[in-house]
Amino acid sequence: MTTAAANTSSELISAAEAHSAHNYHPLPVVVATAEGAWMTDVEGKRYLDMLAGYSALNFGHGNRRLIDAAKAQLERVTLTSRAFHHDRFAAFCTELAELCGMEMVLPMNTGAEAVETAVKTARKWGYKVKGVPEGRAKIVVAADNFHGRTTTIISFSTDPEARADFGPYTPGFQVVPYGDIEALDAAVDADTVAVLLEPIQGEAGVLVPPPGYLAEVRRITAERDTLFIADEIQSGLGRTGRTFACEHEDVVPDMYILGKALGGGVVPVSAVVSSAAVLGVFQPGEHGSTFGGNPLACAVALEVVAMLRTGEFQARATELGDHLHQELRRFESAGAVTAIRGRGLWAGVDIAFDHGTGRQVSQALMERGVLVKDTHGQTIRIAPPLVISKDDLDWGLGHLREVLGARSA
Ligand SMILES: *Cc1c(COP(=O)(O)O)cnc(C)c1O
Repeated sequence: MTTAAANTSSELISAAEAHSAHNYHPLPVVVATAEGAWMTDVEGKRYLDMLAGYSALNFGHGNRRLIDAAKAQLERVTLTSRAFHHDRFAAFCTELAELCGMEMVLPMNTGAEAVETAVKTARKWGYKVKGVPEGRAKIVVAADNFHGRTTTIISFSTDPEARADFGPYTPGFQVVPYGDIEALDAAVDADTVAVLLEPIQGEAGVLVPPPGYLAEVRRITAERDTLFIADEIQSGLGRTGRTFACEHEDVVPDMYILGKALGGGVVPVSAVVSSAAVLGVFQPGEHGSTFGGNPLACAVALEVVAMLRTGEFQARATELGDHLHQELRRFESAGAVTAIRGRGLWAGVDIAFDHGTGRQVSQALMERGVLVKDTHGQTIRIAPPLVISKDDLDWGLGHLREVLGARSA
């Protein structure tokens, strides 16, 4: 048995290993407190957070406005269930819809639930509005996608780690290569109710599609009466320098799926945002969630929306992002990295094989007090909170330069 005496990092890690499922392989750091772009472990060592909870922490740890909004709401009412109305709900839905340039919101909690909601919405819209024959609705998705971990969602994953041994799989999805407009064009047929894509594929290693791709997806889906669903759970809400990554191509999808930063790193909040014609397909009893749209979630997300409306975070992501990518390109010319992708304050960096694996680089950075996350072997992902200072960003990048330089010597 573990005891209350377990309190060093290594003791806490051993206890967690013994009593939690091993569905993650975290770096060996045990965080106790955090503020802004910095986290402190149980031994008091400080780390620069260059991952930001996969963009859930776009506004930084312990953001004052968000914590104050949460505290105020904690003292009022936290949960009503949707059996009753509460006084934060209308404002949340109205303001979020407005931020998105849409009409209606369907709130859930986690990203995966919002993706499930989008799938159900598209299917029902297909049968009731588009007139697809019962049971035939098809959704076209991209290879190397990441949309979450539920049984239906992993059914259309192409990642064996995410998918193997979890069948039987949900039918009704067709996978096409990401960025290949001809393959997508060929896949969208009369039974296709939606094309579901990440405008930038985060988990895959921050893959940006070829210029013009999203605009072509928009054209094809519009022409064939098919919904274009943009999963902006990671790419949205400021990360790329715009409120939505789709904006970089002046594309407006039929539906946004939002999550992560929508809850400000405080509470899980996700949502599907779309037109009344699309979200209007739901009747009472057909979909829901006990915690979806709860007062605490709405209060925090309302503050997130208000902060995004200032444009301040998008501007920061653009400015610091330009600097980040400029600095990273210098590593590329030095031969330590083989590719750099991304937009705004978001980068996927492929490490040259002779400079170690992504995990080894992440581990070496952790020892120096910089936290990033590897993905797919050779890639590291850099996505600091948008509130990071330029000096702190440079400090983190300085360590990355030294870690990569040391390995090439
Ligand atoms: C994280 C993520 C999800 C899943 O969100 P959860 O809150 O982990 O369920 C879905 N889509 C994208 C693009 C994501 O980055």
